Amino acid sequence: RAKASGRNCIWVFDPNEPQARDNGEDIATVLQVAIAEGLVSLVYQPIRNVVSGRLEAAEVLMRLKMPDGRMISPMVFIPVAERTGAIMELGRWAIRSACQMLVAEEWLPLLSVNISAVQLKAPGFAISVAAILAETSISPQRMAFEVTEGREIETHPDVLRSIGELKQLGVKLWLDDFGTGFAGLSCLRAIEFDTVKIDRSFLHDTPGPRGVRLLQDIVTLLGNRGHGIVVEGVETERQLGLMRSFGIDCVQGYHVGRPMAADSLRRLCSEEAAASAVRASACG
Ligand code: C2E
Ligand code: MG
Ligand code: MG
Ligand code: MG
Repeated sequence: RAKASGRNCIWVFDPNEPQARDNGEDIATVLQVAIAEGLVSLVYQPIRNVVSGRLEAAEVLMRLKMPDGRMISPMVFIPVAERTGAIMELGRWAIRSACQMLVAEEWLPLLSVNISAVQLKAPGFAISVAAILAETSISPQRMAFEVTEGREIETHPDVLRSIGELKQLGVKLWLDDFGTGFAGLSCLRAIEFDTVKIDRSFLHDTPGPRGVRLLQDIVTLLGNRGHGIVVEGVETERQLGLMRSFGIDCVQGYHVGRPMAADSLRRLCSEEAAASAVRASACG
């Protein structure tokens, strides 16, 4: 348990108290050795085109296992990695691993990798991406980077320079979690995103009539501007039906599939291919 005594904090660790083991210091220490010790891994969440029925892409999501076996959410460890700078090495590792996955899984059209503003601010980020693509012989068109909307993305000159360089490379740029912050629309003005991912909060509790109209208007706006759209957080058949009625092409969420290991993703895809072959022959 943490005990504050005056200005100095004395940390007494009680292994039975989860809170004491969950502090950022612990995570920061583990992050330094996480790649070497095999404590970070990647899972892949499918993104389905509901028109063609095909898996169009998968999002790469990072996982961290502490030495004692507990899993830490990326919502917790990514901010720590951003603060300590560990995100730079973890990010390069994730991009390289994603490229290796694309080499192994030729059927997979595209992987999207999350990147943070810290990575985009660092000089030479796009150069390191170019080097990884060249080293693995992966076409830049099979790689997308997801950037979460935010003031920094839209205004920081180093971020904008990196984004310009990434576009030059030919990788795709996706805007993540659209509609959650205050910067979504101005991000669209500052940067030409290929695809916008509409945040899952819009589907929360299956939207009522007002929510449905708002979502419909957002979809129309993004469509008119020529953006591809992915709706996140589709969990039920009803939500999927709603997305279909909006003419949405691509959805992601537990209804399509949870984040999963590479071999599960491959299995899911081959099952779907078999099912669509059966449907095709049944239709004559
Ligand atoms: P995100 O990029 O918006 O990723 C989507 C998150 O929503 C994932 O959480 C995913 O598991 C979850 N999700 C997907 N479908 C559903 C659904 O139908 N219902 C619900 N309730 N949740 C769903 P996860 O994996 O915990 O990741 C959280 C966030 O951590 C990500 O949000 C992303 O911002 C960040 N993150 C994850 N991996 C990386 C990474 O490699 N680099 C960076 N910079 N950030 C990462
Ligand atoms: Mg994302
Ligand atoms: Mg995000
Ligand atoms: Mg998201």
